[in-house]
Amino acid sequence: MLLKNVFAPESRASDSSDNSRVTKLPFFDLKTQFQSLREEILAEITAVCDAQAFVLGPKVESFEQQITELCGCNTALATSSGTDAELLILMAMEVSLGDAVVTTPFTFFSTAGGVARLGAKPLFVDIDPATMNLDPEKLGKFFERECRESPDGLATKDGLIIRAVIPVHLFGLCCDMDGIREVCGQRRIPVIEDAAQALGAKYPSKDRVERAGGMSEFGFFSFYPTKNLGAFGDAGMAVAGDAEFGRKMKILRNHGMDPRYYHSEIGGNFRMDAIQAAILSKKLPYLEQWSKRRWEIAQRYKDAFAKFSRKIMVPFEPYAAQLGSEGHIYHQFVIRTPARDSLREHLEEQGIGTEIYYPVALHHQKCFAYLGEMRFPESERAAAECLSLPIYPELTDQQIDRVIDSVAQFFN
Ligand SMILES: *Cc1c(COP(=O)(O)O)cnc(C)c1O
Repeated sequence: MLLKNVFAPESRASDSSDNSRVTKLPFFDLKTQFQSLREEILAEITAVCDAQAFVLGPKVESFEQQITELCGCNTALATSSGTDAELLILMAMEVSLGDAVVTTPFTFFSTAGGVARLGAKPLFVDIDPATMNLDPEKLGKFFERECRESPDGLATKDGLIIRAVIPVHLFGLCCDMDGIREVCGQRRIPVIEDAAQALGAKYPSKDRVERAGGMSEFGFFSFYPTKNLGAFGDAGMAVAGDAEFGRKMKILRNHGMDPRYYHSEIGGNFRMDAIQAAILSKKLPYLEQWSKRRWEIAQRYKDAFAKFSRKIMVPFEPYAAQLGSEGHIYHQFVIRTPARDSLREHLEEQGIGTEIYYPVALHHQKCFAYLGEMRFPESERAAAECLSLPIYPELTDQQIDRVIDSVAQFFN
């Protein structure tokens, strides 16, 4: 397929300047990307309007097929959001009261929220500070020290059955999946990849190169507008390696209805709209070039910040030697510094937007206070030190330099 070069200068909208003293450099900018694909996308939306068929249908099915091929899974089911995709997987696994699911405390809320909504208990294991992803070594120790074998499977000391582990490929970098699969496989615990931030990211396993979301029993993606592949509203995808689970999830996605108006199970409305699938299908062929541009921007930041290595920690790229630019899709470019809050203030004064992903680790969220006091020092430190800089593919070299200069000014 011939793709137009969306980074060509003529396709770039000029900086949206306001009347204030400094031109704003927003943390993200969805408008520029839309302008570059405007005609193609409007044609897709028009086609859906003409057809007046809005929920599921052929556009959704062909997008599911594209995702199946991309991540190498058996079944992909388009959903109303990433959150709902996770819920759908957990419902198909019949996770409920008396169960526990292990994940990282340093992630977006919904990773653990879905577990709690089903009455199961979210359990946390700390991150590896280098990657900020779930640490397989700590996971193994947790299973060894805090769990015991039971007739129903591995159980916590208070008798909850560990039904799944949800590693999160945070910021676009795949977890150490060889390590996680080994620790879980030995104990026959299914893995559900939270690949919401990692569509298309590659991972070099012991035997081959694999893709985020397709490396374990289950996976899910989010197409929230600010994700690397963004819809025009909420949308997500659940994937399964097993065809039987795929069939069950398909029925649960539509109220457990099979055949029409006969319900042998209780599901939900987790369906994707045709308009979202049509837009996402059009945008998907650009994902690779967008991810590559994100990688390039990351390298410019990293090179420029090398001289502040004692003050700023830049992202670690553990797979760069094997995969080059394909080992990290840089959903976020996250630096760490103890001076995070004052750096953020400084950049704000310069008109540069930044974000904090995530300011509060999940075990410290008020809604999880019932889980009791816990300490996860690496996640807590990450929550205190992390700052995300602008990294959307449409950033101009000039804008990147402006971010670099402003950060340098702060540390000089
Ligand atoms: C965005 C996100 C989700 C949830 O996806 P939605 O589509 O917003 O529901 C889950 N996990 C992580 C890590 C995310 O970044």
